[in-house]
Amino acid sequence: MNKIEFEDKDYLSKDKLIDLSDIDTIYMPLVVNFSTDVEILVKKGKKIKKNDPIAIKKDLDFSIVSPVNGIINDISECVYLDGRTVKCVVIEKKGRQPKEEMVEDINAYTKEEYLELLKKYGVTSMGGGNFPTYIKYEPILKTLIVNAVECEPYITSDYVLAKEYFKEIIETINAIISINKLRECFIAINEKYSDLLSIYSNNTINYSKIHIVSVKDFYPIGWEKTLIKEITKESYDKLPQEKGIVVNNISTIYSIYKALKYNTCIDKRFVTISGERVKEPTNALLRIGTNLKDVLPNIELIAGDTIKYVSGGPMMGRALPKNDLIVTQNLNGILFLDDIEDKKVYPCFRCGKCVEMCPANIVPVLIKDKVNNPEALKKLNPEKCIECGMCSFICPSNIDVRSFVKKAKRSR
Ligand code: SF4
Ligand code: SF4
Repeated sequence: MNKIEFEDKDYLSKDKLIDLSDIDTIYMPLVVNFSTDVEILVKKGKKIKKNDPIAIKKDLDFSIVSPVNGIINDISECVYLDGRTVKCVVIEKKGRQPKEEMVEDINAYTKEEYLELLKKYGVTSMGGGNFPTYIKYEPILKTLIVNAVECEPYITSDYVLAKEYFKEIIETINAIISINKLRECFIAINEKYSDLLSIYSNNTINYSKIHIVSVKDFYPIGWEKTLIKEITKESYDKLPQEKGIVVNNISTIYSIYKALKYNTCIDKRFVTISGERVKEPTNALLRIGTNLKDVLPNIELIAGDTIKYVSGGPMMGRALPKNDLIVTQNLNGILFLDDIEDKKVYPCFRCGKCVEMCPANIVPVLIKDKVNNPEALKKLNPEKCIECGMCSFICPSNIDVRSFVKKAKRSR
């Protein structure tokens, strides 16, 4: 496995926190699992309650739900974290917000009730594509791997959540094990987070099925295929479920906690605010549906030329066309970088470095060449790309190889 080891994170923000969640206008992008093929269920001017469905993706039987009580203000457009302009529902937060009622024993749910809650409260993966979590739990499973590895430079939002909510996370993992009758759970924590390793080791002593694993700090150890191999030595073809394994990001576990313990969707998340143009890198608690433009006045930036906004980290993130990015469940960071002129791009000279580096074992250079040839792409498997960005990072000709592979992947 090829890997990149980053030096100390220059813009480490793990010890600072700010709360910017006091926002009234909520934008909900109509995207599920990167697809915009969803049907809108609401009309402008109508009242909506927290947890009511806004739109449904019929083929996945999954709804996007409202994170607030309010009024549908508009059906408009916004920027999604992958840079696309997509349709969104705009909600004005109005009236008293619902009180959260606590469920005493979350171990008592049946598996059917568990799946129903994850579906009803719109739980999706908070570490990558917003894939509905209930689908991952439908098969019979034996192992849960909780991914608290966070291997991208700059990003520390999972670290903060894992530290702030360790009791809730352990309670939820214990319930998931019991409800799904799992044999074991591994919480994978990056070796650089020694404080997290101690917290989780000390607080799981009485849970015989929960094991804490310290994993090496390299990129892309957080990719589920790599992580599963590292921890269980197992390999799979298409999905970890083939081996009875489910992988959840640690933030997703917190979203499951909200669904089980309070019967509600997640309405806020930590987002790392970092990059060379931020005066004090931090983690901000932001409401789901926040437009970056609305909280920008609270972020102290270093004056200078134009800023480049990036959603996510420097490897997997995406440079945005403008600053009205929306905070979604799967947005872990926003970087503010100098918008320096892009590096000069040279022709590909077939060095093969992108092929050597690709953890998905595909041939990025050939996919790039055949990006507009659907017949040829069939044999090149661009759908296996995990969008890690290692091919672009390594390319000596400065070719953004990943963008070609992503285009090929989306076209299939
Ligand atoms: S972005 Fe895709 S093609 Fe490029 S190295 Fe990563 S997995 Fe391979
Ligand atoms: S790394 Fe760049 S130059 Fe080398 S083969 Fe891949 S695309 Fe071509």
